[in-house]
Order: sequence, then structure tokens, then C-alpha cells
Amino acid sequence: MARRRRRHYPPSRIRYEKEHPLVAVRVNKELKEFLDKLRVGEGGEIKSYAEVIKEIITKSYDAYKKWYEDVYMKGHKEGFEDALNMVFDLEPKDAAKYNIVYPLCPNCGKPMRSVIVRKGSKLGEWVLEQIRENGWHHTKC
Ligand SMILES: [Zn+2]
Repeated sequence: MARRRRRHYPPSRIRYEKEHPLVAVRVNKELKEFLDKLRVGEGGEIKSYAEVIKEIITKSYDAYKKWYEDVYMKGHKEGFEDALNMVFDLEPKDAAKYNIVYPLCPNCGKPMRSVIVRKGSKLGEWVLEQIRENGWHHTKC
């Protein structure tokens, strides 16, 4: 049986491909027809799909980047902070609903509200072990 030989590419081709990664995109018919319209340049020349797509990306890149940094990342950060605050603001009895416990301080016996342990998680078990074996406690106690 003939063995399929691996194709050899010159180093320049390998470097080029590394610097110019291929992005393949499947589009719906409507988008394909729109791209076909955009392929016709002002002088009637036909551009490649790659040229058209690069033009679109380049034109919208700055606006998209600004949106991403201003809106998306801000929203992401706020959402994360809200979630974190929600967890830190939970009453211990409510935290149980979310499978979260606040470990008890070995010195005063009150919940350590700055430590969150998810029941059954490896990290949670590790934290509980640290409290048991190394005596983690409230900084004030
Ligand atoms: Zn304490």
C-alpha cells in the first residue's frame, strides 16, 4: 500500500503562514450575495472575498475595538464584580442555596465572610483543610 508522504514546505512558506493565519468562515446565502455585490469595485474590477472581508474588517476595526474596550470589557468587569459582591453579601443561610459555605473561624466560631467555599469542590476542600490544619482564622481574632 502506498504511504502518503507528508508535503514539504519551504521555511519561507512556513513563516508566511505563521504570520498570516488562515481564517475560514461559513456564511449564509444572504451574506454571500452581499459579499458578491461588494466584490465589484468602483472601477468594475472584481475583488477577491479576502480583499472584501479585509476591507470590512479594517473599516470597522477601530470602532469595534473601541466598543470592545469601552462596552464589552466594562460590562464584563461590572458583571464579574456584581457576581462577586452578590456572593460576599449573601447571608450564610442563603449561601447554602448556591452550594456555598463560609467556613467558621476556629477562634470565634463565626463565619469568615471573606472566604467562600463551594461545597464538594477541590479548592473548597483544600481551603477547609487549611483552616483545620493551619488554623486559618479572622485577622482580628
Ligand atoms: Zn474569628
